Amino acid sequence: MSDDAKRASRLLGANSHLNVSFEFFPPKTPAMEEKLWQSIERLAPLAPGFVSVTYGAGGSTRERTHATVSRILRETPLRPAAHLTCVAATRDEVDAVVRGYGEAGVRHIVALRGDPEQGVGTAYAPHPGGYQRSSDLVAGIRKLGDFEVSVAAYPEKHPESPDWMTDIDMLKRKVDAGADRAITQFFFDNDRYEAYVERVRAAGIDIPIVPGIAPVHNFAQIARFAAGCGASIPDWLAQRFEGLDDDPATRQLVAAAVAAEQVLDLVDRGVTDFHFYTMNRADLVYAICHLLGMRPVKPAPAEAAA
Ligand code: FAD
Repeated sequence: MSDDAKRASRLLGANSHLNVSFEFFPPKTPAMEEKLWQSIERLAPLAPGFVSVTYGAGGSTRERTHATVSRILRETPLRPAAHLTCVAATRDEVDAVVRGYGEAGVRHIVALRGDPEQGVGTAYAPHPGGYQRSSDLVAGIRKLGDFEVSVAAYPEKHPESPDWMTDIDMLKRKVDAGADRAITQFFFDNDRYEAYVERVRAAGIDIPIVPGIAPVHNFAQIARFAAGCGASIPDWLAQRFEGLDDDPATRQLVAAAVAAEQVLDLVDRGVTDFHFYTMNRADLVYAICHLLGMRPVKPAPAEAAA
């Protein structure tokens, strides 16, 4: 059987062994809210393992994150995960947010240190009365209830890590504090992800390291994000989007091809779980999941009749 045929036959059964999750950000305006909900409605039938909602820098979206997560719980069968950071808040304030999630029925938190209040690139100063590092937050959440806890991981090293040892040690602390899963920063070079997973396993860390996949809706924007978070933009990626700034239709096709190539290659390397940075847009992510062999799950008759 050719490699393509083998891949196709593996993907035909893919629904049964692939797990996807989708990340959204809380909307600022009624128009953004409508777009978010259209995206959620489009993606929900793909039955993701969970959907996560980000927490704005410095806790700026505390209420909006809570409102979005609560609405997902109320109006959909999806399992939401709420992102939470240590930035600019006392321990009591963060604990109150965690308790609020527990009371609302949220069972999964993505625990993060967060970026410095003055912006990426400036020195991080923990709040004097707050959680000092992300591993303390993980331990704090664990104490407060029976939450599933995901954390962040960096296949190309976090920009603040002086070396790999420090970087992997930070992940190990988070795992020792009770993290169940790590979700990676986005990346485009699968070799780097694979090398990272090898480093992590060599350090005795055995939780899932779920690749974070960012479809390239807008090349200039992703290049800006990448510069801030230590992700590299390979030359081949820049070349593929060259000259398409004013051609959204072609850009969309190229973006779908690039993302499909990346996820199918990861499937070939044995990856079964994927976290998609949706940017609150369903189109590309839906197409990529379709290529992964995923199909909408029809609601059970009782649910459909309700
Ligand atoms: P940590 O794991 O605590 O640290 C990251 C790295 O920094 C470590 O590996 C370590 O090597 C280095 N480091 C940290 N402290 C020190 C120190 N004292 N000395 C030396 N090195 C140190 N941000 C938001 O504001 N809201 C979100 O909702 C959000 N969601 C995210 C989701 C994912 C999946 C990812 C990957 C990132 C997300 N971020 C979010 C960004 C994140 O907050 C930043 O990357 C932040 O800079 C680090 O947070 P962390 O939890 O990874 O930190």
